Amino acid sequence: MDLRDGPEDVAFRHEVRRFLAEHLVGEFAELGGRGGSGDETFGFEVRRRWEKVLAKGGWTCLGWPVTHGGRGATMGEQVIFNEEYARAGAPGRVNVMGEGLLGPTLIHYGTPEQRARFLPPIREGDELWCQGYSEPDAGSDLANVKTRAVRDGDQWVLSGQKVWTSLAHQADWCFVVCRTDPGSARHKGLSYLLVPMDQPGVEVRPITQLTRTSEFNEVFFDGARTHVDNVVGGAGDGWRVALATLAFERGVALLGHQLGFRRELDRIVALAECNGASRDPVVRQQLAQAHIELTIMRYNTLRSLSGVDGPVAPPEASIAKLYWASWHRRVTELAMTILGPAATVLDGEPRPENGGYALGELQRSFLFARAETLYGGSNEIQRNIIGERVLGLPSEPKASA
Ligand SMILES: Cc1cc2nc3c(=O)[nH]c(=O)nc-3n(C[C@H](O)[C@H](O)[C@H](O)COP(=O)(O)OP(=O)(O)OC[C@H]3O[C@@H](n4cnc5c(N)ncnc54)[C@H](O)[C@@H]3O)c2cc1C
Repeated sequence: MDLRDGPEDVAFRHEVRRFLAEHLVGEFAELGGRGGSGDETFGFEVRRRWEKVLAKGGWTCLGWPVTHGGRGATMGEQVIFNEEYARAGAPGRVNVMGEGLLGPTLIHYGTPEQRARFLPPIREGDELWCQGYSEPDAGSDLANVKTRAVRDGDQWVLSGQKVWTSLAHQADWCFVVCRTDPGSARHKGLSYLLVPMDQPGVEVRPITQLTRTSEFNEVFFDGARTHVDNVVGGAGDGWRVALATLAFERGVALLGHQLGFRRELDRIVALAECNGASRDPVVRQQLAQAHIELTIMRYNTLRSLSGVDGPVAPPEASIAKLYWASWHRRVTELAMTILGPAATVLDGEPRPENGGYALGELQRSFLFARAETLYGGSNEIQRNIIGERVLGLPSEPKASA
């Protein structure tokens, strides 16, 4: 595989650069690239406006087919866009769940009516989405979902609780995995419903995280309603659809995320040079190692995504997820070592409302990296997938067995 840009790639890269140079100005440039993973509450309204600017220029939903309103970009072009986006320091996107998870799922499994209703507002940045999978007893073990939906005329009526629902407080809609066959167990009898968030039967309670912000929430459904047509893939077929969304989550959707790592590592190297930590031989070794691993990560990502059109299948997706999440955790720990005692002092902007200061960028990243080895499938779950599907190890014993 030739990793250099061909003539068409060069032209595409220029087009992206030109768009960003012309439009990433004023209030958008002032965000300084913030609002990414772990920092989602920062500058939210400005970032929503930025999403509209991207949409107007045709730079949302790049990988969606043209027939579904996307740009039909190849995987290589998506990589280039994400690289340039990160390099320019453009703000964190506000609708990763809609664009990266629900959109591709609807393109593969939705009805023509569902696509016509839901895809355009995602592309235009008008409707934001959240993912209602996890519950207090159903995280890694997703098949244990207990939230129920029962038919009432032409509506589904939901009751139950979701947890860790990222951005539910900002979302207009939620894709919910729930049990629609009352006597069913495990992965049978589940459905994948599209549920409007702004209604009396939905209560969203933010959860305060280590970072002192609240990106995720508990979501309570108590008589929440959605139209019967809002079931994706048919009633009882939710498990298959839910797994497809997970494959998108572990595949292409994570790509943009890891491209910001280069900027972060450059920042850490600059910090080490500035405060003298770069003279420490152990720190130097660790920084060099981090650079090597990041380079390997990039090549590996490009290799596993080349020729792929759709969700990246395991084991590649599991290896990539395990690799980047563990790398980022180690590197942010190294950043704290380099900061030294300063790591324990809040050095972000003043936050009079909570009586102090905000976390600095590296501090926030260090704390949020703890979450990255959990969401999108924890490290242990990724190793289980690799063990069983690559090494052919026997399936792990189930508690019920
Ligand atoms: C920042 C963040 C955002 C999130 N956003 C969302 C969201 O938007 N929507 C949503 O639905 N969910 C979301 N999640 C939830 C996430 O998907 C779950 O946290 C994850 O699936 C793990 O589930 P759990 O937290 O219930 O932990 P558990 O499944 O209870 O696991 C606890 C520990 O046991 C280990 N473990 C569990 N099972 C096994 C096994 N079979 N073998 C070996 N080890 C095992 C796990 O690796 C983990 O270390 C988010 C989580 C985080 C941290």
